[in-house]
Amino acid sequence: MTLPRIEILTTGGTIAGKGGSATGSSYQSGEVGGDELVASVPGLSEVAEISVRQVANIPSQDMTEEVWIALLAAIREDFGKFDGFVVTHGTDTMEETSFFLSLTVPSGKPVVLTGAMLPSTAVSADGPRNIFNAVCTAKSPAAAPYGVLVAMNGELFTARGLYKSKTVALDTFTSRLGGAVGWTQNGEAHFSVPAAPEGSLPSFRESKLLRASALPRIAVLFTWAGADGTAASAYLDAGFQGLVTAGFGDGNIPKAMMPALEAAVRSGLPVVRSSRCAFGPVLEAGEVDDRKYGFVCGGALSAVQCRILLQLALFERPGATREDLQALFRRFAG
Ligand code: ASP
Repeated sequence: MTLPRIEILTTGGTIAGKGGSATGSSYQSGEVGGDELVASVPGLSEVAEISVRQVANIPSQDMTEEVWIALLAAIREDFGKFDGFVVTHGTDTMEETSFFLSLTVPSGKPVVLTGAMLPSTAVSADGPRNIFNAVCTAKSPAAAPYGVLVAMNGELFTARGLYKSKTVALDTFTSRLGGAVGWTQNGEAHFSVPAAPEGSLPSFRESKLLRASALPRIAVLFTWAGADGTAASAYLDAGFQGLVTAGFGDGNIPKAMMPALEAAVRSGLPVVRSSRCAFGPVLEAGEVDDRKYGFVCGGALSAVQCRILLQLALFERPGATREDLQALFRRFAG
């Protein structure tokens, strides 16, 4: 019997981390090489023929657009050679990398990210089990229609809506869009929520991203009681090409921040409105009337995922109008 061919692309993170003790909390991310990481997973060679490609070995708080583009290039280059792909990654920015890839990798084969909350040297390290589950998902044809998935702690999530909700707990991942879409059990992926129909979500699969050295610079602005426009103005002065607000509640913005945002809109720069809340959509024309101010409503996406969608949209169409951008973001509103 021929086994499915799975490529594991490694990038670092806690899953590749080493600590001085099996029980202490201090450790260094991104220390274990790709081959060593995979060798630590019992039974893996019985479920798939594994190839390992190390793309980076960094803690994911140091993730960059260069690594995203290198990952995308590796997946595009190897797409015809494998039945599915697993990306090992730190959990801190998994929301961002998985979303970037979900918008840019070719469709038709599973791409599954996984990581760990405990370093490889910890008692009951979760990495080996997560890798096993990710490989079992990546070899499942049923996973392909979901685009990029994240396999963590026995659950499967779509990249869109992924949210790291707990600082150190193993069950940290959840979704802003209603929870997991499936789970893994006994080496098999099971799905409880249908995949979005092919073509229903935006994608940048044909984009010339591989030739890009950088994506448009977009900043996220957090809000707090008493926040003003200092940070927004500084970003604009520094040449940023757009802003995403992580506003209060339904994306509400403090009065003192508004003049800087209105100045951005007047100079033709997009301002996308999102929320600092963990769950729920931001509504177009709720307390803030987006059309009146020239803002774009970010819908149900988190601020960091709004940032990536805006980056890709502006990379593709530098002169995109507010209406173009709003139409794009509306496709994520559900
Ligand atoms: N700081 C680590 C990282 O994101 C945390 C983890 O992987 O869980 O690389």
